[in-house]
Amino acid sequence: MNHKILNSIQKINAQFINNHFTVALDTVSIDSRSLQNGSETLFFALIGTNIDAHIYVGDLIEVGVRNFVVTHIPKNCESKANFYIVDDTLLSLQEFAAQYRSLFDFPIIGITGSNGKTIVKEWLNFLLSPDFNVIRSPKSYNSQVGVPLSVIAINEQHNLGIFEAGISVHAEMKNLEKIIKPTLGVLTNIGSAHDQGFVNLDEKIKEKMSLFQTAETVIYQTSDQISSFISSNSNAFTWSFTQKGATVFIGKQIMDEQTILNIHYKNDNFKVKIPFQDQASIENAISCLMVLLYFKYDYVIIQNRMQLLFPVEMRLKVKNGINNCSIIDDSYSSDFQSLKIALDFLESQKQGDNKTVIISDIFQSGLTKDELYNKVSDLITSNKISRVIGIGVTISEYRHKFDNCITYQTTADFIADYENLDFTNESILIKGARSFQFEEIVQLLEEKTHETVLEINLNAISFNLNFFKSKLKPTVKIMVMVKAFGYGNGGFEIAKLLEHQKADYLGVAFADEGIALKNAGIQLPIMVLNPENTSFSAIIQYQLEPEIYSLKGLRAFLKIAAQKHLKHFPIHLKIDTGMHRLGFEDNTIDELISTLKGNQNIQVKSILSHMATSDDVLHKDFATGQIALFEKLSSRLMHELNIQPIRHLMNTSGISNFPDAQYDMVRLGIGLYGISNDSQEQKKLENVGTLKSIISQIRTIPSGDSVGYGRKFMAEQTTKVATIPIGYADGLSRGWGNGVGYVTIKNKKAMILGSICMDMLMVDVTKIDCKEGDAVIIFGQSPSVIEIAKALDTISYEILTSISQRVKRVFYRD
Ligand SMILES: *Cc1c(COP(=O)(O)O)cnc(C)c1O
Repeated sequence: MNHKILNSIQKINAQFINNHFTVALDTVSIDSRSLQNGSETLFFALIGTNIDAHIYVGDLIEVGVRNFVVTHIPKNCESKANFYIVDDTLLSLQEFAAQYRSLFDFPIIGITGSNGKTIVKEWLNFLLSPDFNVIRSPKSYNSQVGVPLSVIAINEQHNLGIFEAGISVHAEMKNLEKIIKPTLGVLTNIGSAHDQGFVNLDEKIKEKMSLFQTAETVIYQTSDQISSFISSNSNAFTWSFTQKGATVFIGKQIMDEQTILNIHYKNDNFKVKIPFQDQASIENAISCLMVLLYFKYDYVIIQNRMQLLFPVEMRLKVKNGINNCSIIDDSYSSDFQSLKIALDFLESQKQGDNKTVIISDIFQSGLTKDELYNKVSDLITSNKISRVIGIGVTISEYRHKFDNCITYQTTADFIADYENLDFTNESILIKGARSFQFEEIVQLLEEKTHETVLEINLNAISFNLNFFKSKLKPTVKIMVMVKAFGYGNGGFEIAKLLEHQKADYLGVAFADEGIALKNAGIQLPIMVLNPENTSFSAIIQYQLEPEIYSLKGLRAFLKIAAQKHLKHFPIHLKIDTGMHRLGFEDNTIDELISTLKGNQNIQVKSILSHMATSDDVLHKDFATGQIALFEKLSSRLMHELNIQPIRHLMNTSGISNFPDAQYDMVRLGIGLYGISNDSQEQKKLENVGTLKSIISQIRTIPSGDSVGYGRKFMAEQTTKVATIPIGYADGLSRGWGNGVGYVTIKNKKAMILGSICMDMLMVDVTKIDCKEGDAVIIFGQSPSVIEIAKALDTISYEILTSISQRVKRVFYRD
């Protein structure tokens, strides 16, 4: 237990309702879904735009949580726990974190800026951890919620903190400043990111610098504009490539694979090599170097450590593994905080019940080995991990702390024994410190395919879902259409995420798709849009819910339902209001009513129809007509059958265009995947899918030579040609070749040369500094799917769903 948690919560401004439950608190949580919640958890019920965590207090009491910070006590929970009643739970979490922080007195580095915060934090951790017990923000936890959660992880053994603070709008920094209270400030590149939240650059700088109000020293790249905002309590410790007046003056020589920095500091000159050449990495490395100088490190140590800096991979990636496994690749860090996050992520993404964790020795906890491995063991137990594979000398010593655990001294030992291990139908978290090189394990367990991948950003999906949820009236439910393999983005993984994000319903086109989801463990109700009569038995067996659209289909279903003695089996009635695709027409409603009247085998769960023109203002009258007919026919059904079904009519574009016809539910499709046909709305959505490949080969051809089948491209000058392993068999239309389309390489456009082949295409890289193996973006931010659809005279839906199944889908979270 951690006395400081109790100590701090008692100091916040709250009314304490003491029902005399134990207050042996050890952790703080805001996530009701985490398996880590238990009797030692202090739970803050935060209120988000869509979800108010107060509704989960009852469930949390069931799993043993007994201490809550709430704005009110939810019904039926009154005497079942202790409650701290506050006005605003987020502000209280921040106030609590600030109290907690004030109980510790050691140097804290606060990092802010527009770009590079997380990289600088991770590098500083690498550079300083040989000499300090470092506590740092996990991943990119730098927000109004992330910062308090990061700070609360400080314990008695730490003696250096590194925390990042990110803000997107004016006036957010003052909350974070109170929580972090940095003694040393680092301002990274100020850039133009998130500019929309600020009136101008001055305001943005001022806001960021307010993190350093009480810092003794602030590190930044010399600039008069920044200097004017530095607090009178602080010393500036500056660097520059151009201004000799900076505390540290730096010259740089960019070489083949590295950069050499010539450092002039006080009266000394010395050289530092770093393994990067791009401007952003160089600046970030210098921010770190400045911290080392501030801590008076010996130049030789600085040189030795800086040359070992590495690219930072902060994302948790989900990959398809061998034998139907899924893999969560977190093979670059192994501290306790990030283990907690990774285990929550594993739970949210698991397929089936079996969960394996492959984990290395854990570093940088600040705790003794005994304490640490006790905590790790508790964490693994609470997360119901079926198998633990430990790799490393220390974890091997503690094998007895874990159930069903095998250990290896080194990664090489594991690999040598790999053939004897079985990995089938399970979710595997691979989590290890960099030095263990777990990427080799990821390679072994990963399903092998070619280099072209569709990367899917799960955070963007959550963001888009919440964007549309925020447009709904409060009681309106949301069905998400995951037909056609989640519009090409992956059916199961997205369904799993939607379940986690509390969507109400899923929609698929055919029974097979629904069965696959149920087999993978999805529990949300699933409506099947186009059930064939032959699939009714399977639909019943798998508890799917058919959409019934004709008398013939209805009779067939009722017959089976009677044979199987079903009771109130959910069905959905589709009526045709003008789309003329599927649905009961006006003149069949009488017979529909007489057929259904009094039937106890089924229950009409919902009534729906589909809009033909919800996206097009030119057809607004037609749309209003559809809505009126839906209102008329559905009301009649409800009245005459005496039922209260869910009514739903709108797809993505209808949600915004016809807010008054949202009825009880909407059916979100393309919008979830980041696409809108309204250009204003489009700007607010996040890009979900990025189709990526690599350069296989580069050659230079003289003027007059041609490229590809049929010599469709003729070089008019010396041309550098790159070949990329993606073609029309991967779903990229041939119409996008021959001078129409392009790919992006190193942020530059490379036009496609000649015809697109079955498995490859060639692009012009004459003006691009690139090499074989470099990444290529086929679509994503640029070109966007919308842009490609326009050029090909089709719609985004077709581009997305055409990407063939041989292209591997990789899911990740920022
Ligand atoms: C596909 C589909 C949707 C979703 O449409 P979007 O335009 O992608 O939002 C809604 N309802 C039905 C019946 C559908 O077939």
